[in-house]
Amino acid sequence: MANHVSAAERASVATLPIPAMPPSQRSRFESLLLKQQLIRDDELLIASEDVDRLGGSLADAIVAHGFVTEADAYAVLAIATGMAFVDRVHLVPSPLALRLVPERIARRHTLLPLDEDNRTLRYATSRPFDAEAERDITFASGRTPRGVLAMPSDLRAALDQAYPKLGDIDFLLDRVRCGASIQSVDIGDSATPSESPVIELCNHMIARAVQVGASDVHLEPTLQGVAVRYRIGGILESSITIPPEAASLILNRYKVMGRADIAVKHRPQDGGFRLIVDGRPIDVRLSTLPTINGEKVVMRVIDTRTCPQTLESLGYDEANLTRLRSALNRPDGLVLITGPTGCGKTTVLYSALNHLRTGHTNIVSVEDPVERRIAGVNQIPVNSRSGNSFAAVLRSVLRQDPNVLMVGEIRDSEVAQIVGQAAYTGQLVLSSVHTADAASAITRLLNLGLEPFKVAESLSAIVAQRLIRRLCIHCLRRHDSVEAVLLGRANGIDAVPASAGRGCESCRHTGYVERMPVAEVLVPDDRIRHHIAHGATAPEIRAAMHAAGCRSMRERALELVSLGVTSIDEVDRVLAPEAHAVGRTGGTKRVLIVDDDRITRMLVKLLLEREGYEVLEGENGRHAVEIAQRERPDLLIIDLLMPEMDGYQAIERTRRDLSLATLPVMVLTSEDGPGIERRVLELGADDYVIKPFEPVVLLARVRAAFRRLDRAVV
Ligand SMILES: [Zn+2]
Repeated sequence: MANHVSAAERASVATLPIPAMPPSQRSRFESLLLKQQLIRDDELLIASEDVDRLGGSLADAIVAHGFVTEADAYAVLAIATGMAFVDRVHLVPSPLALRLVPERIARRHTLLPLDEDNRTLRYATSRPFDAEAERDITFASGRTPRGVLAMPSDLRAALDQAYPKLGDIDFLLDRVRCGASIQSVDIGDSATPSESPVIELCNHMIARAVQVGASDVHLEPTLQGVAVRYRIGGILESSITIPPEAASLILNRYKVMGRADIAVKHRPQDGGFRLIVDGRPIDVRLSTLPTINGEKVVMRVIDTRTCPQTLESLGYDEANLTRLRSALNRPDGLVLITGPTGCGKTTVLYSALNHLRTGHTNIVSVEDPVERRIAGVNQIPVNSRSGNSFAAVLRSVLRQDPNVLMVGEIRDSEVAQIVGQAAYTGQLVLSSVHTADAASAITRLLNLGLEPFKVAESLSAIVAQRLIRRLCIHCLRRHDSVEAVLLGRANGIDAVPASAGRGCESCRHTGYVERMPVAEVLVPDDRIRHHIAHGATAPEIRAAMHAAGCRSMRERALELVSLGVTSIDEVDRVLAPEAHAVGRTGGTKRVLIVDDDRITRMLVKLLLEREGYEVLEGENGRHAVEIAQRERPDLLIIDLLMPEMDGYQAIERTRRDLSLATLPVMVLTSEDGPGIERRVLELGADDYVIKPFEPVVLLARVRAAFRRLDRAVV
């Protein structure tokens, strides 16, 4: 895994005091220096007194005083200690050695990991006999350290080269990179995508969102860095974490792309940019919000090529469709769409506009901003945060006498007044509000200062909706008839014929596929108008709706459950106040062991369970992918040669899955030799263990893998 050290942490991890040399070695070093006439007796005395008084190493002291050159001092020190000396040219670490020894350990002890085999890790140091450094290396790599000597100046240079600031970005980029072609549009800098890994990472994170069908990308500051989460099918799924030292580079890049002010961090900002992903123009709306850990950025990803839907393709039942169509076919009145963020309000508004454009009417929309373009509609982008301009634009629009006016959202009483008046005086007005259901949208209008009698008279329809996921037909769990009836009775419906299954390839192991709306469409009859005019409360309006035969969202959703289209769990999730993120928190670390050999699995399981880990098992690569996707283990230990799907394919598959891209992988293999390191790295694995393994070796590796992950343990 990548090992990240923030600037602050780097400063706080002070370099440790230099360990004292054993007296015999020190006197050997001194006598060699004198014998080779590199130093005089009196000079040596001065340097020795310094070391005794102030600590530090004698080699460094004689160099600091200018008595001996660094090269001479360390050449003699190598002889005195019997350690091999390595010059600058040979201070080149292997990629796996770097992965095994985190940057914080290397910098803390000023050492450089060089290479490793199954049992040992060779490292360069300028401080012989540094027991603490060796203990840390053992802990981090699960191997026995073997030190070689190098000059401090060479070591520092090699360290900076081995752990450059952006090394982690390249690593993340490898894991997020997708095959899409990406073009930036008009970002105002001349950088080409390949010029900087930061730019590339930012672009690929958006392209990934498009590929997996995510509606939003969340960048959330945490103490460990910036957590990236994608909203897919209404649910937030965790992806990578950007290390703290790279976080501001990424956030600033997005702010530059979105034309937000990168100097402003303490107040919310809005912005937007466009990327062309595989030839499709993708609009991204960006908003920032200061939090106690730093700025949180949310980006809405809008595929502008998505054609406006017809009313018929929205997925409403016939009764609701008829109600909505009749409201839209009136020449005037207010048609309001309501629901929480992400419930598909915009889609409904656009399909309503699409339904209305006949070429014979003047349709104007005022939007913040324009999300999709529709031919035949005059779309006016307005930034609603910029004070009075939204209302001012609305007033100008109304002077142009539109037949149909669409206002993206009613956010304040000024806009509500204009919209209400227009609907009352002969225009067809479409808009949206943010309320739980149709009845509470009416009280919202009244709270925004609209007169009850005007609302009662001009209201044509209110559509409230949620998006609900359909069960995956390939893996859904069918209930037998007795069970179905019992479950149905418990939930107030006829039957619950099916629930979500364990997940499969075609549903990304969620048990669910694409979403469909469940809507309630309120078209007020005389009784309801009477209630509204007399300032009825939301519950009173709800009761009147029920009496008028208008079904609630929950009733429609339960009908879909009894038809086997969705599950009770999904209905409870969506029609509960707020969706929550998926993911386990805390607790026991889980290790997935995948090997076709039962004995190996049993051994690993026994060993790890005794250490308090939870162990999951799989027999082949296909299991590895499926179990990893379903169970989200903390570590995957996997054999390479297996029937059906081998370890190579399985690791590649997990790496392609966004949510598994950072799962640490340890390869279990019987093929030792020089090729193993290259193969492990090509696979994007984090370490390997040679079979047959010794229990202590395996345990040390597993512990080390978790230590590298767990930044709290230094
Ligand atoms: Zn499925």
